[in-house]
Amino acid sequence: MEKQEKNAIEILNLLCGNNGCTIADSGGKDSSVLKHIATKAHEMYGLPFSIRHNHTTVDAPETVYFVRNEKKKYEGMGIVYEISFPKETMWQLIVRHCTPPTRLIRYCCADLKENTGFGEKLVTGVRKAESRNRKDNQGIVTFTKPKKRLKKEIEGNEDFRETDKGGVIVYNLDNDENRRIVESCYRTHKTLINPLLDWDDDFLWWYIEHENITLNPLYGCGQCRVGCVGCPMAGNKRWDEFEHYPKYKMAYIRAFDRMLIERTRRGLENKIGWETGLKVFKWWMEDKNIDGQLSFDMDGKIYEEYTEEWLK
Ligand code: SF4
Repeated sequence: MEKQEKNAIEILNLLCGNNGCTIADSGGKDSSVLKHIATKAHEMYGLPFSIRHNHTTVDAPETVYFVRNEKKKYEGMGIVYEISFPKETMWQLIVRHCTPPTRLIRYCCADLKENTGFGEKLVTGVRKAESRNRKDNQGIVTFTKPKKRLKKEIEGNEDFRETDKGGVIVYNLDNDENRRIVESCYRTHKTLINPLLDWDDDFLWWYIEHENITLNPLYGCGQCRVGCVGCPMAGNKRWDEFEHYPKYKMAYIRAFDRMLIERTRRGLENKIGWETGLKVFKWWMEDKNIDGQLSFDMDGKIYEEYTEEWLK
């Protein structure tokens, strides 16, 4: 048995051996390894554990089917596997919050991903190595704006840290360099256990192959992101996602349409350019092209972007 594997099993047994724990399954590769490790701890020490997946309503279809199969597989082994559905969908949240989710205003994580597990011992697949990858991909965003310009967003929000030079860092707390193997969150009363914290990418991939662990098929498509479709933290990767999942693009645009109606109802002023759901989508995608931009499709047909034609 490899040292990393043995350590992870020992951590689980030591910290959760008596009362058990819940494994958080995002549908990603780290979660798949974690479930495998927990199963081994169960076989070796009788570790009691269950698994939970938070359905976000913006998961890729591949992830939805993969999770359903995982549920069947683990339930077949006698392990409780819960798929938790949120009270409101992403589309309803957009209307209620009257703004699209952005890097600065990520209300959706709290409602769609962190709405379970209060008071529990929750085991996650957080790894420091993944943190570095996300940093390169702007998963952690540093803003040079002085603090006072972001004062409203920063106050009471633990996703923000000030830099020495008076700037602001927004952390993607899923995977953060500062994380520890055991963490307690006083806000949610969750104890988070991260047994894969020090696993690097090379070892993780080697282990997946060595142990023949079944992964989300999205990894086979050369797509390394298994998060919510259209997540504002994904930056430019969203263009590929919406190309691949055009129905999600339509669903966001329609939600932005309903959001504008709600903003009018509440008497809220709109940002410049927020005339229609389509134009909000343009703003949200940080598309700098001017209105009226003409494009060619594959057949050479010319159409104007951000019109009904553009949606087809
Ligand atoms: S991962 Fe992204 S889209 Fe999904 S809930 Fe969190 S911020 Fe929202």
